[in-house]
Amino acid sequence: MSSTRPVVAADPAAAARETALSVEAVARLLRAKTRRAFNLNIVNETGSTNSDLLRDAARLPSGTALAAEHQTAGRGRRGRSWVAPPGGSLAFSVLWKFERSAAALSGLSLAVGVAGARALERCGTAAGARFPVQLKWPNDLLAPHDGALAKLGGILIELAATEAGRTPAVIGIGINVALGDAAAGIDQRVTDLASLGATCSRNTVLAYLLEELLPVLRTFERDGLAPLASEWNARHAFGGKRVMLTSEQGAGQEGMALGANADGALLLDTGKGILRVVSGEVSLRAG
Ligand code: ATP
Repeated sequence: MSSTRPVVAADPAAAARETALSVEAVARLLRAKTRRAFNLNIVNETGSTNSDLLRDAARLPSGTALAAEHQTAGRGRRGRSWVAPPGGSLAFSVLWKFERSAAALSGLSLAVGVAGARALERCGTAAGARFPVQLKWPNDLLAPHDGALAKLGGILIELAATEAGRTPAVIGIGINVALGDAAAGIDQRVTDLASLGATCSRNTVLAYLLEELLPVLRTFERDGLAPLASEWNARHAFGGKRVMLTSEQGAGQEGMALGANADGALLLDTGKGILRVVSGEVSLRAG
């Protein structure tokens, strides 16, 4: 196994930005079994790495990964846009063909969140400190910034047409590396690896993510979210806190977020009972 020590430099933003993404650089940081499991491609510019893999899902093998230096039309859930300044962000997607039904993938974004948190926490800071990564249901990676949690990254899972009993899922991950002026254009609290003092290059972050994704995807494929649910709950940013769930239609539901169950549903104590929120079509905010 190769050593994956982060590059240490005086200016984290410069360190994070400096290296161009490189298949060879990432491969050098991967264990042999991770290298074999993923076929990584890097393009200079594309609209959305998720859209590219979704379009070609039928002909591409499971494990195809695509990263873009510049993603010009990154997407969040429900068509919202994802800001990814060139060089200041890591945008990539993985195609994974699960031997599971689409319904049995309901907890996948939570499982991927666990992998993402593990990977980002491997990026130490120049001062030798670590920063905790927490999770927001169903798909966000958060870290502390100026005394409050802010969004460090996001996950977008999209399913392609089922083929011969397998469900192809495209797992998109966007990590804020050094957003610079682009942060001002985002309408919620955001942070990035540079602000956290992390000194990982983008190639290192990508390698860590692939390394942590592989065991999580294999565990999820075999046993679903159940073996990962306790770690998700330990990282749950809103566990025991009051939250508001809102849908696109504007209907709100307030309660105390208890945590996620083994299917990836959020359990919400409304005061009148425990609501099991299964739809990813609602947004959670601090209450
Ligand atoms: P939800 O709670 O519904 O998941 P969300 O705000 O996390 O809400 P996503 O669909 O996951 O929504 O992501 C899209 C939203 O994230 C955008 O509408 C914007 O508010 C915010 N956003 C866009 N780019 C970034 C970024 N680079 N970093 C953090 N947040 C971003």
